[in-house]
Amino acid sequence: MNNSFKTRDRGGRDRFQKRSDRNYGGRKRFGGHIGGGAKRGRFHAKTISHDKFINKNPTAQIEAVYTPAHAFSDFGFHPTIVSNLAKKGYKNPTRIQDESIPHILAGRDVVGLANTGSGKTASFVLPIIEKLKKKQTLETALIVVPTRELAQQIQFEFRQFSDGMRLYSAVCVGGLNIYPQKKDLRRGPNVVIGTPGRLKDLINQRELRLENTTTLVLDEADRMLDMGFLPDVTFIISKLPVKRQSLCFGATITPEISRLLQKMLIDPVTVSVRTSETGEHIAQDIIRARTGEEKMQKLTDMLAQDDFEKVLIFGQMKHSVQKLADLLSKMGFPAVAIHGNKSQPQRQRALDMFKTGKVNILVATDVAARGLDIPNVSHVINFDPPNTHEEYVHRIGRTGRAGKPGQAYTFVG
Ligand code: AMP
Repeated sequence: MNNSFKTRDRGGRDRFQKRSDRNYGGRKRFGGHIGGGAKRGRFHAKTISHDKFINKNPTAQIEAVYTPAHAFSDFGFHPTIVSNLAKKGYKNPTRIQDESIPHILAGRDVVGLANTGSGKTASFVLPIIEKLKKKQTLETALIVVPTRELAQQIQFEFRQFSDGMRLYSAVCVGGLNIYPQKKDLRRGPNVVIGTPGRLKDLINQRELRLENTTTLVLDEADRMLDMGFLPDVTFIISKLPVKRQSLCFGATITPEISRLLQKMLIDPVTVSVRTSETGEHIAQDIIRARTGEEKMQKLTDMLAQDDFEKVLIFGQMKHSVQKLADLLSKMGFPAVAIHGNKSQPQRQRALDMFKTGKVNILVATDVAARGLDIPNVSHVINFDPPNTHEEYVHRIGRTGRAGKPGQAYTFVG
């Protein structure tokens, strides 16, 4: 990483165990908050065995060598979709696309078990565009997602794949002014993409009408329920026509999801492509640090290494994540933060800066980072440990995507 704290030490992980006499202004004041967070209260690191944070022999990523059974041309998509696929540079379907698209096109309800990074967005977006175009009716689709960023990401893909097809979409998410969203809905979009709370508000205000919504997608369903959205999701589903196609994507099926699926799906096909979910292809290690000060020291030692090109740091609390980003920036490691206390435009700006490489360090809470597709993250650092193993796997899955190598480090006390 290009900054004034570059170190010459290239001697492997031991370098992080060293103490240094360098004095970073502000570190002392800060150390107590972030370092202490990992040791106290319900976020105690010891709930997960440290062994789970170590993988010194990463395997090759299986997804990278997948040979699809179909070509995109086999799906019989509208010629504009075909040309938009080519424009976007998609040559062959990914495994989730290969295995789920035929069922979705056939009108079946589908449960897709796939992580972000597997290409699952196109798995449902392409058949929805095909269906809407073919029927040329008033029918609409509703895509429910856990985070605002994911909604925007899906709309971006929808627009690219439906370019020139006169299909319109609206994003309805919390944290943004509701009035432009109402205006968008009054134009009668073909697809509405939104987060549960805002969608519920808009339904209650009779701005979002679902009588003609014949396709429902729940994306990142497991995250959505983790975040406590079950009542809102159940409410939304109750407002949909009974005769509809329902699709549900997520990384795991918890008992809670299973109960929801039993109520919302009819004779579903399950497609599971969770090959990289274990993070086996990601090199993982722990970093021991007892005090907040020691953590900061080791973190900055790492960030100073050349190979830490694009680093995603996870912290537990909204305020500590912001403080860490501010402190790193002050210390010569420009960083941005995303967390729930930021307004939606601020979150989007931070994410764009990280995605486009204007800033190479993003500090995030789990909630803010859910479902994001950020290319080329070289390292994930768990500055505060995750609460569950599943959360851990999700975090480290932000690196090592699309067949690239990835590395993850977790601070332990
Ligand atoms: P997703 O899991 O939908 O977030 O997709 C992960 C990344 O893979 C995104 O950057 C997509 O644009 C990309 N992607 C999805 N499907 C394909 C494909 N068939 N060929 C090439 N790239 C793809």
